[in-house]
Amino acid sequence: MTVTADVQAGTDVPYPGWADEVRELAQRRNAVLLAHNYQLPAIQDVADHVGDSLALSRIAAEVDAGTIVFCGVHFMAETAKILSPDKTVLIPDARAGCSLADSITVDELRAWKAEHPGAVVVSYVNTTAAVKAETDICCTSSNAVEVVASIAEDREVLFLPDQFLGAHVRRTLNRANMHVWAGECHVHAGINGAELTAQAEAHPDAELFVHPECGCATSALYLAGSGTVPADRVKILSTGGMVDAARASHAKSVLVATEVGMLHQLRRAAPEIDFRAVNERASCTYMKMITPMALLRSVREGTDEVHVDPDLAARGRAAVERMIAVGRPGGGE
Ligand code: SF4
Repeated sequence: MTVTADVQAGTDVPYPGWADEVRELAQRRNAVLLAHNYQLPAIQDVADHVGDSLALSRIAAEVDAGTIVFCGVHFMAETAKILSPDKTVLIPDARAGCSLADSITVDELRAWKAEHPGAVVVSYVNTTAAVKAETDICCTSSNAVEVVASIAEDREVLFLPDQFLGAHVRRTLNRANMHVWAGECHVHAGINGAELTAQAEAHPDAELFVHPECGCATSALYLAGSGTVPADRVKILSTGGMVDAARASHAKSVLVATEVGMLHQLRRAAPEIDFRAVNERASCTYMKMITPMALLRSVREGTDEVHVDPDLAARGRAAVERMIAVGRPGGGE
């Protein structure tokens, strides 16, 4: 799907009064509206809370509302259900998947574990509930290094599913007994080092905000290491971390290496900064399946409800709670 300039500008509401109708129907349903940072601007603007996947799941667990409408992709809604098993969790379109979460199945994980008996399994939060249930400890992009560092040095580690985040952790800890699954997100993998280098050279004063799932994360660290871009201008951040960094930044311009929906929250957080996408085509088709009309249908009809098997949910919850116990988990994607 192509994200048009109008959509990026937040004018993608289907008709005047749409937002009021959504809010009224949500109120009648005692529902809270949560939107991920990569959602369409109109969805972000109508939501009660906008943020990264983990922050939203925590809000889902804490709010009084009996129903959570999760405008994001399916694994995020599943995580909210895992952390709030007694609440009704809705996603406006259950087909909104994730190429990264789909890059490892639970059967593939079981076979990998069988090859490495005794290894500790560390999974990024972009995984299905079934994979989380086979995981020892989850991590986010913010605390992946801390999570792996917390594991005894003589234990093998299986890190999944993202190869770029895994490479970042392995390089940081210089850990030889860490195996990384070769998964990737098609959107983030499309933001490559060549584009980042070209943009950094064209905008020599700009800061770089880079999500560690990006194919260009290695290039960003190289640019900093080689002095092409001063190291203090390169920031490897989760999406929630980007919003905090935008508020604290004194830069005039920032190059952003992640999904383009992120620009909406960054521009709201720091309107005086010129935010530019490293790759303007980096738009997640799955995230954009949550259209304004799908959200309207969801609050009107109570669709699509997310179910997680209680046994899987209990095992997945243990892995998520172990993650929360290690340092600051930050926000994930
Ligand atoms: S941007 Fe990539 S990792 Fe994020 S939801 Fe889309 S496919 Fe998944």
